[in-house]
Amino acid sequence: MAHYLDHAATTPVRPEAAQAALDAMTRNWGNPSSRYEPGAQAAGALEGWRQDIASTLRCAPEELCFTSCGTEGDNWAIFGAVALNRRKGKHIVTTAIEHSAVLEPCKELERQGYEITYLQPDRSGTIPPEAVQRALRQDTILVSMMLVNNELGTVLPVGETARAIRESGCAALLHCDAVQAFLKIPFAPKELGVDFLSVSGHKIHAPKGIGALYIRAGLRLPPMLYGGGQEHGLRPGTEPTAQIAAFAAAARLGYASMARDTAHMQMIKEYALSQLSARLPQVVQIGAGDAPHILPISLPGYKSEVLVRFLSDRGIYVSSGSACHKGKPSHVFAALRLDKAVQDGVLRLSFGYDTQHSDIDALVRALGEAGEQLLQSMS
Ligand code: PLP
Repeated sequence: MAHYLDHAATTPVRPEAAQAALDAMTRNWGNPSSRYEPGAQAAGALEGWRQDIASTLRCAPEELCFTSCGTEGDNWAIFGAVALNRRKGKHIVTTAIEHSAVLEPCKELERQGYEITYLQPDRSGTIPPEAVQRALRQDTILVSMMLVNNELGTVLPVGETARAIRESGCAALLHCDAVQAFLKIPFAPKELGVDFLSVSGHKIHAPKGIGALYIRAGLRLPPMLYGGGQEHGLRPGTEPTAQIAAFAAAARLGYASMARDTAHMQMIKEYALSQLSARLPQVVQIGAGDAPHILPISLPGYKSEVLVRFLSDRGIYVSSGSACHKGKPSHVFAALRLDKAVQDGVLRLSFGYDTQHSDIDALVRALGEAGEQLLQSMS
């Protein structure tokens, strides 16, 4: 039996979302732009799905544009915000622990002559609000800060950052990568005070290939693509109705059971910590990790990649950090300046609403068995 403990990498599509996609492909398959009945039906459904997702973010449906993934939303918001503010300065503030979907666009902007301040996390893996305040300048045009870090599970001070920007009087726009926060912690873009916010379907039990970008009403973000006028002309292309239908179903259901699901994940996280510490006293928890679904730990003396393979051979799936690193050392754990032995032995466990105690028991048993055998093979 497989034990999937990597929900921050991706989640299995829930049956109701798969059914919604199937219905959109086989029954409501019209092109929403077509001017006859099947088109009108698809267009009506599309606006219903947009409304479903907007309700979970407590924003207006017109403030949401569908994207192909979280990465697209992040890139679009960053390059678009810089274009919007191009006459006001060339300074950008972000954090050293953003996902590469934010860091890589920032590096590209650096190559184009922008100056980027990368805020370093404190020991607990978060960014102190004062650090943001100090980094803001009159020529700061964009701040990009994630809400929940994908490797540490820390919650970053996005609301305080929005207030600091307003108080500083600078023209900076605020983008938030909320891919790991969506349906894991309660938030709404308006309450946070952000201008742009990206989410992604495959982290909430919808299929891969769909996401959304919240664009605060009144902001004229330059289009992502040019074409047939779909998505208010901002991101044209025939809408992927099957993915959108599934995304809406997953968001609707996830929102309805969010309190129960996140309490379950938190309970599983605490169970994992207590069982790991009882069986493997050397286990170190990394960061404060406030999000309920992410638990980064380290087994100093072990090598992450060896542990990931050892566990995978036993049907237990965890990661050594973000799935996007593909085995390269994580810039997030590096930013914490951990002892080398701790950094080398990092594992990220991440949970879903369907994670069971038995998944944790299997993990703890396997890590216990690893014992001397692995330590010796690595020395
Ligand atoms: N931002 C964060 C924090 C993520 O964890 C991820 C995916 O791991 C992304 C962005 C990218 O999202 P997507 O895989 O939908 O492109």
